Amino acid sequence: MDGLPVGPTTTPLVIKAGWLDKNPPQGSYIYQKRWVRLDADHLRYFDSNKDAYSKRFVSVACISRVTAIGDQKFEVITNNRTFAFRAESDAERKEWMQALQQAVAEQRARARLSSAYPLGVQGSEPPDRAGSLELRGFKNKLYVVVVGDKVQLYKNLEEYHLGIGITFIDMNVGNVKEAADRRSFDLTTPYRIFSFSAESELEKEQWLEAMQGAIAEALSTSEVAERIWAVAPNRSCADCGAPQPDWASINLCVVICKRCAGEHRGLGAGVSKVRSLKMDRKVWTETLIELFLQLGNAAGNHFWAANVPPSEALQPSSSPRARRYHLEAKYREGKYRRYHPLFGNQEELDKALCAAVTTSDLAETQALLGCGAGVNCFSGDPEAPTPLALAEQAGQTLQMEFLRNNRTTEVPRLDSVRLLEKHYSVVLPTVSHSGFLYKTASAGKLLQDRRAREEFSRRWCVLSDGVLSYYENERTVTPNGEIRASEIVCLAVPAPDTHGFEHTFEVYTEGERLYLFGLESAELAREWVKCIAKAFVPPLAEGLLARDFERLGRLPYKAGLSLQRAQEGWFSLTGSELHAVFPEGPCEEPLQLRKLQELSVQGDSENQVLVLVERRRTLYIQGERRLDFTGWLGAIQKAAASSGDTLSEQQLGESDIPVIVYRCVDYITQCGLTSEGIYRKCGQTSKTQRLLESLRLDARSVRLKEGEQHVDDVSSALKRFLRDLPDGLFTRVQRLAWLEASEIEDEAEKVSRYRELLVRLPPVNRATVKALISHLYCVQCFSDTNQMNTHNLAIVFGPTLFQTDGQDYKAGRVVEDLISHYVVVFSVDEEELRKQREEITAIVKMRVAGTASGTQHAGDFICTVYLEEKKAEAEQHIKIPASMTAEELTLEILDRRNVGIREKDYWTCFEVNEREEAERPLHFAEKVLPILHGLGTDSYLVVKKHQSMEAMLLYLASHVGETKHGMMKFREDRSLLGLGLPSGGFHDRYFILNSSCLRLYKEVRSQRPWSGAPETSHRPEKEWPIRSLKVYLGVKKKLRPPTCWGFTVVHETEKHEKQQWYLCCETQMELREWFATFLFVQHDGLVWPSEPSRVSRPVPEVRLGSVSLIPLRGSENEMRRSVAAFTADPLSLLRNV
Ligand SMILES: [Zn+2]
Repeated sequence: MDGLPVGPTTTPLVIKAGWLDKNPPQGSYIYQKRWVRLDADHLRYFDSNKDAYSKRFVSVACISRVTAIGDQKFEVITNNRTFAFRAESDAERKEWMQALQQAVAEQRARARLSSAYPLGVQGSEPPDRAGSLELRGFKNKLYVVVVGDKVQLYKNLEEYHLGIGITFIDMNVGNVKEAADRRSFDLTTPYRIFSFSAESELEKEQWLEAMQGAIAEALSTSEVAERIWAVAPNRSCADCGAPQPDWASINLCVVICKRCAGEHRGLGAGVSKVRSLKMDRKVWTETLIELFLQLGNAAGNHFWAANVPPSEALQPSSSPRARRYHLEAKYREGKYRRYHPLFGNQEELDKALCAAVTTSDLAETQALLGCGAGVNCFSGDPEAPTPLALAEQAGQTLQMEFLRNNRTTEVPRLDSVRLLEKHYSVVLPTVSHSGFLYKTASAGKLLQDRRAREEFSRRWCVLSDGVLSYYENERTVTPNGEIRASEIVCLAVPAPDTHGFEHTFEVYTEGERLYLFGLESAELAREWVKCIAKAFVPPLAEGLLARDFERLGRLPYKAGLSLQRAQEGWFSLTGSELHAVFPEGPCEEPLQLRKLQELSVQGDSENQVLVLVERRRTLYIQGERRLDFTGWLGAIQKAAASSGDTLSEQQLGESDIPVIVYRCVDYITQCGLTSEGIYRKCGQTSKTQRLLESLRLDARSVRLKEGEQHVDDVSSALKRFLRDLPDGLFTRVQRLAWLEASEIEDEAEKVSRYRELLVRLPPVNRATVKALISHLYCVQCFSDTNQMNTHNLAIVFGPTLFQTDGQDYKAGRVVEDLISHYVVVFSVDEEELRKQREEITAIVKMRVAGTASGTQHAGDFICTVYLEEKKAEAEQHIKIPASMTAEELTLEILDRRNVGIREKDYWTCFEVNEREEAERPLHFAEKVLPILHGLGTDSYLVVKKHQSMEAMLLYLASHVGETKHGMMKFREDRSLLGLGLPSGGFHDRYFILNSSCLRLYKEVRSQRPWSGAPETSHRPEKEWPIRSLKVYLGVKKKLRPPTCWGFTVVHETEKHEKQQWYLCCETQMELREWFATFLFVQHDGLVWPSEPSRVSRPVPEVRLGSVSLIPLRGSENEMRRSVAAFTADPLSLLRNV
């Protein structure tokens, strides 16, 4: 193969040229003078020496013999045809014959040399496109072949096989453009214009594309290719061995042939990023070229093809199917790869990767990434948290380049679904339909403008056998074009009257074309949409067809447990609901787009990802195809926005409260509770208006920040919004009833009337009333500072909520009553109150602390939290809002440090007490702020994995009931009781832990044989209510605990006195069982968030695996914060303040 010429294959040198007489065609006696030219590949003859295009050409490879016949004549003999020429003299004939014989011999020698890649009759490359075309000036259709940088014309298919053609056009001088006629196009060169006509519009497009490819190839340069070929293994395709591969996968770092490149593309950019060595010139930086010289095919195959069974190896001549199979196995599944010794041990792989990237060992990096090391794993070094940063620090530019190119590469998985095969094997239902449709020319981008009626042409359309064909009219036999149902990726129905036709629908294809069809009749249009949908949606997803949809199609997505790789799912958009059918998942509830907690587009322009976060799940939709993805993006964004002015048309948060209301209430709570005249004072009109506009447009994306918005602007925006509600908060229908209720004299009767009326409100209104009144109650609790007592608030809000002029106090009285009787009217239960007490306490403490130190933090507390261990590099400073749970804090820290959560990683926030040498894993739902307040100077918070959680969960799962009893060693901390002396130490005691308390018995009297529970003395020596205990793991060494499996238990009495004592178990298992039971009874059985019952951010489930790919931003925390804070009764919460 080394003997093959390297470099462009165009215009080989002319070996010999001159005038010869060619024997006449049959039926004629006159010899014709022809200009004949021979080069290494072809013998051609022309009308004259000035012509650029031959009359005939014969492939040298097909010449079997050259023989002399009488009269200076000689014959060029091919398998099937003989061409006779006559020279001017014997000498000239000899020269021609020698030249021809030598060319044939050399051609054969070349063919032998590259036996691995035999030069076929029709040349060395398979054609990019071949078929019949009409060419103006020719009576019959020609057989046209686009191959490499040439367009070859043959009389017919038979001659193509014989290697005898008319002429070929070097596309370095070619240009193609559409002609006026829908099926015609011109190939223009400086010497001649070839006017072709295809069978259909669709075929024309395919020919245009192929010819444009040939032009690109002709204009390509081989400079990069030649540099990369400087290393021998790069001179043949990494996958099939074909010579002179001029394509490459820049993330896999291998050089491949054009045919393999086609299949690589089919693997998707998540597996292989395909670029041309010759055409994508901008990609080839010096660094990338150097990387290919160092890694390239040698290292690539050393890793990826370490174990290829001969039966599965590829040849240059392998079929597309074999290629697809091999490449799927090689790169998507990693079937043939060389397993790294650390394979399967994620932590070690990541560590090894972090080490490798600081060295020049690129092959090691390749092997580690290919075996699952996390390209974005956390290095443990905050200065250089990722492998990329480490490589940069170490000055390893090639490593950096390699990591960058692999930033989004999927880890190979043996069990990966073969999308392609799957896709092809789907049997689509057969649907038939026909009729006239109006159609515009297909487009390569979204239709932004209205298409006028004149732009549509009437076409007879037939849908049958999985193909939608369109014809000039119902009598035409050959279609103008066709769309295969299997190629349809999306079907969209624009709103009526979007275009010149009242009813239209759009069909998007895999090849990124958009076809617009129109009709007058709504009924006929719906019928067509239904039929086309049926034709391209597989049975698996046909449930989506039951609804009227605006958009329907398939998209690559990642969700749930399968974040490693994208799969294809089926989606439909109906109103503000996104329905999805996943091939492997259970049936899913539709996503309520207006209730999304996050909707964002991430990634760069090449790899866009649409992130949708709903309460319990996160969905990533990938922009693999640009055109239909852009369409979906716009439609989803539109559907997620508020659709009108009424309350229920707004973007909604959890508990059905409009995000717009929530945002304002939250902000006032954080920053405005102590602001004098809050809600009475007006903000600046212009600012208020601007704010309200942006909230109405997309409240979800509005972040109100202290210092940027004045509380009075925000409060005014909220009042304005409520006042302008078309139907009012209490609705037009019921408004009067509420006002009348306020006149009921008997208080109890009045309250029960309010409760009745509340039930009658629509859910969104009811939730909003509750949130608002709860908030107002909180505001009036601060009336000492803000001067807004219940009466003042009622004066402001009565007319706002009832949209009256304020002349009559009835509206105000309703508001005043609702605030005063909040607990009863809204049925706020004890549990809700208890939960919120700490939060409100914290807010108030914060406020006091803030004023004392002269800073205005309005409820925000900045705290230091460590990741994994207490050291300066692991520090995170984090704002702790009042409602933040331990789980939210944990996730926030992991997010910030880009730490991925894997299955069975029980990341937990611990409260560590250094003095006591004990630590307490916070329960996931525990509020962090109150804990921070109780934290002494010798304590801190750290987020790390809870090593015993799995064992504890297993224990709890296998254990019925919620009690535990047994012996433990017990010791009281007498120093706390003022004795100041270390006491005698640990003593055996019998403990019983049940759902309400922990009891200690001094002695066990006897064993009752039938129950297993030892009979104890009737009265326990001590007894503590379980909920007032805080249990820490560990006992300080100074106390010389008898075993290393101990607890430190803190009991806070009602009088806020603290007692502390210590417990020790015999074994670690026992310790875990006691601790698990403590957690179980303290938290009503919910020890670790299980998905369905989970109230807070559900991230661990959806983030298994490769979290770091797309970090989430936590907006839902904020969402829940104040809503939760104020749906409880502030009255009771503030009792302890
Ligand atoms: Zn190949």
